[in-house]
Amino acid sequence: MWTDEMRKKALETRLAKKKQRGENHTVISGRSAIQSGDKVIPVSDWEISIRVDWEHLPMQQAQTAYASLRKEFEKAGSILNARSMPTPGTYKCFMCKQTHVGQPRGTDYSYINADTGLMEPVLICGEKCWLDYQRLRIKERREREMPQSA
Ligand SMILES: [Zn+2]
Repeated sequence: MWTDEMRKKALETRLAKKKQRGENHTVISGRSAIQSGDKVIPVSDWEISIRVDWEHLPMQQAQTAYASLRKEFEKAGSILNARSMPTPGTYKCFMCKQTHVGQPRGTDYSYINADTGLMEPVLICGEKCWLDYQRLRIKERREREMPQSA
């Protein structure tokens, strides 16, 4: 049972923590590792740390900060695009995830991954996977248009 006093206290604690973290400080990080025998070998760590007071920073500095962010964002986008391109002569089917030799039966270069917001080249190996892909697109469109319905 929560009393008003407890609620007030909890809110104060939350606000204090928020202040401690700093509202102008955004940190996002990730870590990936591979298991080798009984050892865990870290492969790569990443961290995005943004500490900019967008509200109060002098305009010129804020614009410089924004330009740096944008530059990094665009760099990441072009590198990830290049990485997602298949090695020449082979391709990975978007639906069955198998690697095939030769030319794909169908392609779609307008697909945007809803999770990442990045464009993904869609390469399809055959008739069945192409039909599956069409069904996926229809399903995704329905989910976008009617996010409330089940
Ligand atoms: Zn396939």
